[in-house]
Amino acid sequence: MRESARGADSGVAPGLLGALVNGSSSITRMRPIALTRREFLHTAAAASSGAALAHTMPTSLWGQVAVAGVPEVVPGWAQKPMRWMQLTLVEDDPKQFDAGFWLDYFKRTRSDGVCISGGGCVAYYPTEIPFHHRSAWLGDRDVLGELIAGCRQLGMTVLVRTDPHATYDDAKEAHPDWIAVDADGKPRRHWASPEMWVTCAYGPYNFEFMTAVHKEIVTRYRVDGLFHNRWDGNGVCYCVHCVENFRTASGLELPRSASMQDPARRAWFLWRQQRLMQLVDVWDATIRAVNPAAAIIPNGGGQALNSLNALEVSRRVPLMVADRQGRSGLAVPWFIGKVAKENRAVMGDKPIIGLFGVGLEEKYRWKDSVTSNAEIRIWALEAMANGMRPWCSKFSATLHDERWLKGVEEIYLWAEKNERYLKHQQPMARVAIVYSQQTAWYYGDEHADAKVENYALGWYQALVESRIPFEMVHDRLLDAAHLASYRTLILPNTAALSDAQCDQLRAFVLKGGSVIATHETSLYDEHGVQRKNFALADLFGVDWTGKAEGPMLNSYIRLEREALPHSPFFAGLEDAPRVINGVSRLQVTPRESFAETPFTLIPSYPDLPMEKVYPRTEKTDISCLYLRKAAGRVAYFPFDIDRTFWEVLSGDHLKMMRNTVLWANDEAPVIEVDGPGLLDVTVWRNPRSITVHLVNLTNPMAMKGPYRDFFPVGAQKLKLTLPTDVHVKQAHLLVGEKTIDIERSGSVVALTVPSILDHEVVALDV
Ligand SMILES: [Zn+2]
Repeated sequence: MRESARGADSGVAPGLLGALVNGSSSITRMRPIALTRREFLHTAAAASSGAALAHTMPTSLWGQVAVAGVPEVVPGWAQKPMRWMQLTLVEDDPKQFDAGFWLDYFKRTRSDGVCISGGGCVAYYPTEIPFHHRSAWLGDRDVLGELIAGCRQLGMTVLVRTDPHATYDDAKEAHPDWIAVDADGKPRRHWASPEMWVTCAYGPYNFEFMTAVHKEIVTRYRVDGLFHNRWDGNGVCYCVHCVENFRTASGLELPRSASMQDPARRAWFLWRQQRLMQLVDVWDATIRAVNPAAAIIPNGGGQALNSLNALEVSRRVPLMVADRQGRSGLAVPWFIGKVAKENRAVMGDKPIIGLFGVGLEEKYRWKDSVTSNAEIRIWALEAMANGMRPWCSKFSATLHDERWLKGVEEIYLWAEKNERYLKHQQPMARVAIVYSQQTAWYYGDEHADAKVENYALGWYQALVESRIPFEMVHDRLLDAAHLASYRTLILPNTAALSDAQCDQLRAFVLKGGSVIATHETSLYDEHGVQRKNFALADLFGVDWTGKAEGPMLNSYIRLEREALPHSPFFAGLEDAPRVINGVSRLQVTPRESFAETPFTLIPSYPDLPMEKVYPRTEKTDISCLYLRKAAGRVAYFPFDIDRTFWEVLSGDHLKMMRNTVLWANDEAPVIEVDGPGLLDVTVWRNPRSITVHLVNLTNPMAMKGPYRDFFPVGAQKLKLTLPTDVHVKQAHLLVGEKTIDIERSGSVVALTVPSILDHEVVALDV
């Protein structure tokens, strides 16, 4: 993920499977820090087994992933900022931009962290490193130095941004091996700025040249850290170094296909990950030799479809900058909240920063555009409601359009005023969706959206619509400590799971945890190799017959009301005899007789000619939902209810999914919110407060932005069931700016929020 390209991609793996396949080269040169084949094979093998993952890399820099509730030592500069600004300079900014304006804006917005462009593609200071291109408009100025000095006077944490992905003719002439090479063996011109060249991310340009740049910046300015954009390459590079280093590491030639079924592609995929983590380690060691508290903050890493290993990135950084700048195409505002949850899964208590933009994010790349204040606002509010600290990203210090300034200022001033309630230490969610990078990489491969992500998005939408607070969990962190706060785990077609991961899930259920799984969950191993049966067949209580059906047209699900007149699975469906089916299902055979079978299959029947559209089979005994009460509860849907829900958004599927979560969770909900509209609800436990966010997503533009305006929803009745050690003293509305009445009954607190325009935050002092 990167701030300028797919920062706002619609939930799609950017570098992942779409990575380019290019040609080969025959030049020979030195190779910096290459893994030997033995080292690579060792780490690659270790990387495949969940338990060994933590040991594949040099000693952790910021410790292991923190377990919720266990504080980790994060340097003060990283822990402190609650409101970030990023100013990405463009090359001609030095001739005209007004540094005083920006420093004043940082001050007015009470921003306490900043990220300013320093170098890489363009240097904004008088660099002395050969081929480090100074801005053609720099003259004698040190623009970077001026901005840093001003920000330091404001007491801000300062990061410097570098972007190493492109360079110029002079660098290419002196160092042809710095340039990325395509599949035909040709050096790669930059696609958008044709006077430039794309650099190789895995060779000496990054390992040597950029290391020198980073050392110079930290030495000159002693900044807190460096933030890197587009540092992780542009797919397969066929330069001399890549050819040789990859061959040395793997014994293979560089891949020519984009499919993970190709052993060379798979080996390259892991080799690239390791190479880039080595790069981060080299950069980190270099700047820490100058400033021991400094850190490297690479852009990207924590999202479900990212091609980098989220665990490896997260353990190297004291904070994560999660880049999801805005919406594009069909995207719900909760997308940025999802990014927050994915990152929190691997970052624990370390700060998650939500990078949002002020412009439109579409493939046509209007980088100087400004979107509506409502759109910027809903994005930032969602980020904060989900525990992110806002980071406003602005490209170009020259203002082509000032309409965004006031809106961002309003958001930041409100956030500063209420800062003590917004530290968000511990989510109180009891439900979590598991995300699995290995499933995306090896099972989803080139179709990770359709085969993996759309299942998770279905559950995400269903839980938001159901107003059930939830988190996300990384599948390599299914140990008891990481799952301790959850009652229910949802596995949305989590196909690729190792035996060890399945054991962890069994242990979770054995200790009383509940699991909801769909479709092909556990039918593949951690490398994406299909098994003969589910690894979790014992948990589901069914075996796979080896047969699959789909796409199924005109198929339905019958509600078995006669057998189960009072089933909780029919809540909201009291008048429905049947509902639509999903699209793909597995044939399974039960291992046992199930106590309750609320849903059964009505098989597909012709959908044309209309005269022929009548069910051939009214009723079967084929279950569409297998329910078991082990120590915890297990619900298995042998079909793609979640993926179909994301595609079709049927309210009946929503109710089935919601009812299943409530059945699995089987306890008083942390919060119930009763009232009209589409709200994202999050609940946080802080040292002196319980903070509840209600973000009003109700909008004709909810599923496709940009928002034009906000539409208020009426009264919402809240009922919280709090831990017995929590005693609420009083409640305030942080947007409505007033104290409100509460009703207490044991551990239950009830209150009413009269109406919500864009958001409301209820702060309960404890
Ligand atoms: Zn290369």
